[in-house]
Amino acid sequence: MNYTTKQIAEITNSQLIGDETAEVKNIAYDSRTIFSEANSAFLAINTSKNSGEKYIQSAIDKGINIIISEHYHPQYENITWIIVRNSIQFLQQIAKYHLQQFQLKTIGITGSNGKTIVKEWLYQSLFHDYATVKSPKSFNSQLGLPISLLEINKKHQLGIFEVGISKPKEMELLEHIFSPEVGILTHIGSAHSSNFEYVDELIDEKIKLFVNSKTIIFNGDSDLVCKKLADAYSVKNLISFGFNSTNNVSIKNDWKNKSQGVIIQYFEEEFSVPIHQRDEATISNALCVVCVLKEFGIENSIIVEKLNSLKSVEMRLESVNGIRNNLIINDSFNLDLDSLKIAFQNINEYNRPHKTLILTDFVEGKDSDRLYQEVAAITNEQNFKTVFLIGDEITKLEGLFTATTFTFSNTTELIESVNLNQIEDNLILLKGARKFEIDKVKSYLELQKHDTVLEVNLNSILHNINVHKALLKPKTKMMAMVKAYSYGLGGYEIAEFLQHHHIDYLGVAYADEGVDLRKNGITTPIMVMNPEQHSYNIIIDYNLEPEIYSFRVLELFNEKLTQKGIQHRYPIHIKLETGMNRLGFKTEELQELIEKLRSMNVKVISIFSHLSSSDDESERDYTLQQIETFGNSSEILIEGLPDQPIRHILNTSGITNFADHQFDMVRIGIGMVGVSASSEIKKQLKSAVTFKTVISQISPIEIGDSVGYNRKFKANKNTRIATIPVGYADGIPRLIGNNVGFLGIRKELYPIVGNVCMDMMMIDIGDSPAKEGEEVIIFNSNPSLEDFACYCNTISYEVLTSISRRVKRIYIKD
Ligand SMILES: *Cc1c(COP(=O)(O)O)cnc(C)c1O
Repeated sequence: MNYTTKQIAEITNSQLIGDETAEVKNIAYDSRTIFSEANSAFLAINTSKNSGEKYIQSAIDKGINIIISEHYHPQYENITWIIVRNSIQFLQQIAKYHLQQFQLKTIGITGSNGKTIVKEWLYQSLFHDYATVKSPKSFNSQLGLPISLLEINKKHQLGIFEVGISKPKEMELLEHIFSPEVGILTHIGSAHSSNFEYVDELIDEKIKLFVNSKTIIFNGDSDLVCKKLADAYSVKNLISFGFNSTNNVSIKNDWKNKSQGVIIQYFEEEFSVPIHQRDEATISNALCVVCVLKEFGIENSIIVEKLNSLKSVEMRLESVNGIRNNLIINDSFNLDLDSLKIAFQNINEYNRPHKTLILTDFVEGKDSDRLYQEVAAITNEQNFKTVFLIGDEITKLEGLFTATTFTFSNTTELIESVNLNQIEDNLILLKGARKFEIDKVKSYLELQKHDTVLEVNLNSILHNINVHKALLKPKTKMMAMVKAYSYGLGGYEIAEFLQHHHIDYLGVAYADEGVDLRKNGITTPIMVMNPEQHSYNIIIDYNLEPEIYSFRVLELFNEKLTQKGIQHRYPIHIKLETGMNRLGFKTEELQELIEKLRSMNVKVISIFSHLSSSDDESERDYTLQQIETFGNSSEILIEGLPDQPIRHILNTSGITNFADHQFDMVRIGIGMVGVSASSEIKKQLKSAVTFKTVISQISPIEIGDSVGYNRKFKANKNTRIATIPVGYADGIPRLIGNNVGFLGIRKELYPIVGNVCMDMMMIDIGDSPAKEGEEVIIFNSNPSLEDFACYCNTISYEVLTSISRRVKRIYIKD
């Protein structure tokens, strides 16, 4: 986009204060991901949950001087303001106006699954024929669509946009700003996984996108979808695809048989296409792509070529720890200006002071000089210390880059260069076109290759937090329990992510856990539950807040404060004993506690207690009793104290089972990982942890052969044994050997046979098609963490915290 502030105000009927001629080329609404201040405006978005106006200061700090918001904040100087009535409507208005300025073909994709893949594949298939703009990887919020539409410019001939909705009534709004000429409905999932009560309602809502479409291409395997589209849109060009032969476009042969192509029945016509990966989702997405290409008049032979060159869509940004304390962010799927901008936004989320960029030629570039000028301009704003350029074209323009820049004609040259080998303590962003294979750089820089990893999906953690938040009042605060190395998932990585997402408090067990977090840049308040006497010094030095659970601790800690000459009233948290009988002040101690606290140099930040059985339906009365005791005792304390402490008692299952008693804050732990005692909530959570490895060796054995130490397994038929490089030293309890536990390969479960060894175990894989080197799931979805805990005769908490430190943790962000 490119409008003056005056034009923007006029288009959206808003008030302008300040410079009328300033140009706006980019609207940012997340102050953390602002990657370019030149010609950028910050839009403060207000929702029912949050006000973006809180972040105006931080946008201004980043150099932005045009602010769009619902309220005027006169205290800032030299800022141009556009005052809007409603921030979200503003964005939609400007996007709609912008789209109307162009004549381009449009494709809108909705559905429950496959939207992003279909969009990326259509892009891969069509961008050579049409200058194409698309929504970024998976960016489908109410804000994402208008933001993507604003990327359209006059060179574009085709726009492919994903239109995701999460709530009833959203589609109508979106259709009002974007009415695609070709509408696509991919697979529709069950209503359970959404905010819709019935599938009926979900379909009705999604198909509203097609009100003004000429052609609708849809997955016709659901009778209900077919009926609804036929009823609503009989006059439009409807094309159904899917596995049922009743569809206009379907599969003619046995698609699972990989020795032949997939034969597509396209209306009256039949033709064979190459599809390498043979699972239902892939085939279905490919059918959808074929329908669109046919609709665009592309010949069969060309369609075959295009399908042949489709690349898998890497949906996630991968971050791995590199050698020399570098952090490597690998985003080398496709390289265009849009994806480069998004990568720049993403790396801003990592708090690394020094950054390096590795960038290759843009293969698609037509008007390459102008393209590279723009690339250099946005790159120069990112403050990279070092830039490595690879390829014949981009290196010619080395002079445009202001960072220390090195050039190479190919990736191998880069890997061999001394300069790359001197980079340390940097975030290294890899951004390259496929043909340069800069994945090789990642492998080269990666710390150590481990076959066995504990993979933590940070987005799932955030999702799970939000599922719990949805059960609470908007004002209720949340403390994330990151004790015991974040339940075994990692040290500061989880805390850093939670801090980035504005968690209110962090909770750790011991002072040194808190110190580690502080040393890694965590500034969120941290409560320490077991403040040991020898650690009072570092608690105070690192600004940690102790849990005070007895007079002994209170007095010793207060002495330390006096001894260190602390002037301000030091923040503490008071723990009350209400029924766990572990730590805490008892009801009869309250009066004395009040007197002591009043005489000391401390400030009570919060009063809390812990539920012993919130996950246990049969102990409901006991829990309610605990809550009542807590309510009464904490009230007495609050009345007696000068401070206004907040109160909290609910842990994860407390949130799900006793949300009425949320007080001012809750403490989430295991729920972040995706575990819940409530089956209703469990359905909405995502499993955030995958413990996986690969098969080291497969050996056929015969009847009577034995496996492992002490010959505890003897085959009663000929079979195949897979050896897995994980054993009790990795935290797998030995008791799951000998047919007690199971591991997953290709979604099937196989029994652990014989005794578990220190570093290995064996599973009986029978005639599974699995090969050596193939992935083995210790737990994720099948078996799940809960299943695995059940094999081990314990609970999920113990499974996670037992996984030894030698297992590499990796963190994934979508
Ligand atoms: C660990 C812990 C929690 C979190 O418990 P979950 O069941 O994992 O949610 C909450 N409060 C206290 C005091 C804890 O020690």
